[in-house]
Amino acid sequence: MGELVVLGLSMASRVHQENKSQHRGKWRIMENEETEPHVLIFPFPAQGHVNSMLKLAELLSLSGLRITFLNIHRIHHKLTLHTNFQSRFSRFPNFQFQTITDGLPLENRPIGNFSDLINSLKSITKPLLKEMLLSGELGPTPTCIILDGLFNFIFDVDAHPNIPVFSFRTISACSFSAYSFVPKLIEDGQLPIEGEEDMDRIINGVVGMENVLRCRDLPSFCRLEDPFDPRLQYGVTQTIQSFKSHALIFNTFEDLEGPILSCLRSRCSNIYAIGPLHAHLKTKLSSEISPTASESNNGLWEVDRSCLAWLDAQPPKSVIYVSFGSVVVIDDDQLREFWHGLVNSGKRFLWVLRPNSVAGKDGVPAELEEETKERGYIVGWAPQEEVLAHKAIGAFLTHSGWNSTLESIVAGVPMICWPQFADQQTNSRYVSEIWKIGLDMKDVCNRETVAKMVNDVMENRKNELMGSVIEIAKLAITSVEEGGSSYCDLERMIKDIRLLCQRQKETID
Ligand code: UDP
Repeated sequence: MGELVVLGLSMASRVHQENKSQHRGKWRIMENEETEPHVLIFPFPAQGHVNSMLKLAELLSLSGLRITFLNIHRIHHKLTLHTNFQSRFSRFPNFQFQTITDGLPLENRPIGNFSDLINSLKSITKPLLKEMLLSGELGPTPTCIILDGLFNFIFDVDAHPNIPVFSFRTISACSFSAYSFVPKLIEDGQLPIEGEEDMDRIINGVVGMENVLRCRDLPSFCRLEDPFDPRLQYGVTQTIQSFKSHALIFNTFEDLEGPILSCLRSRCSNIYAIGPLHAHLKTKLSSEISPTASESNNGLWEVDRSCLAWLDAQPPKSVIYVSFGSVVVIDDDQLREFWHGLVNSGKRFLWVLRPNSVAGKDGVPAELEEETKERGYIVGWAPQEEVLAHKAIGAFLTHSGWNSTLESIVAGVPMICWPQFADQQTNSRYVSEIWKIGLDMKDVCNRETVAKMVNDVMENRKNELMGSVIEIAKLAITSVEEGGSSYCDLERMIKDIRLLCQRQKETID
């Protein structure tokens, strides 16, 4: 764990620190206290969230800000097992990791049962966080907290009125915007959805998305029959809360979601669009550390790098990469439909099947693995960014998680989308209908469709889809280079944090 060089403890908290025997010696107190901002970052305990917030933490650390990254202990444990993240961050003297429990056992799946997780976070983690902040255990009072907007409730605003919240939504701006209109859709009588035959009805009144969204493209919780279902209400409440925060942060870029960002800015003036974060970080690392700075692996599973050697042996653009992210679980039937579809497509495939990601089975049936050998390769967890950037990859069959979507865009790889929950339904609509960089296989899972779409994306519509995604990939890279929109928004955010710190200091003086 990196030592925090404390530059800004207030007198009161310094006394408190020095009185706390268990923390004595942890902080090194220096001159010029209170002049340096201290940012507390707290991600929701799930792979996609931790991944993008660690990237943000690394970017902010590169700018010299003091960062405390607070992580749920079992997520931290998995990162420790499977990545070099501690040594990566140890180069930042003003960075520290801290952990907090969510009351769930270490072996719990990253998200597991969502309601259990939320209840545990509310009853155990929330009071603990309050206590850690009040006791000074997390270091000097933070200038601000960058809080994952999926669990705004975790931070007790009333107890810490002087710590502004920057709500970081790790989903796309388009899906966040769709979330925000759900109460209006309920009020208008456009929700609930009236069964399967109602799924293609066009939704009206989601500003900036007229004639884009059908019922099936709304965030998955809109499929619940009862508009007052606590799961739906949870999504709505956290979204409303995000709008009330000091600022909103999105892992996106103007040239991708400019119109939606403009609509959102009319409802929350302080929005920073600073993505794609993985490309942003890579660009900064290669310019500031070394041109060959390594990948930032933040995976919660052990990476199987053998697939890169397998890819090396495949012809250019011949392989479809298949991964449904870190949470999706498929059943036996779906596994077989995908497998037959992939085999029948006649194309090569690299397939990520996480441990326990097939319901009822511990892994892939032996015969399936055996029969895959001719044209396929299966791993438990892949180095995804590297895989997508590999010259052998021609397309990505994805669940449309936002990180995966951005990674595919930056790598210039067209997608087949098979969204499962939350923002994924909206992301896949944008991929197919707005950005035109992939095909949407939403709500369908049969071998004929899989084989047809694989052939469409890899062959019949390859030039058209590849052309559009390469154009957007160029815009993504430009946005994170010096002078680009995301580059400038990050600079603005850092400047604003420094100003906040200055103002807080003036108020104390
Ligand atoms: N990922 C990975 N290896 C894999 C599968 C996924 O590194 O084999 C990473 C992927 O690069 C992405 C994250 O896991 O950064 C998944 O996040 P996403 O938002 O796409 O989906 P989620 O897992 O949150 O549903």
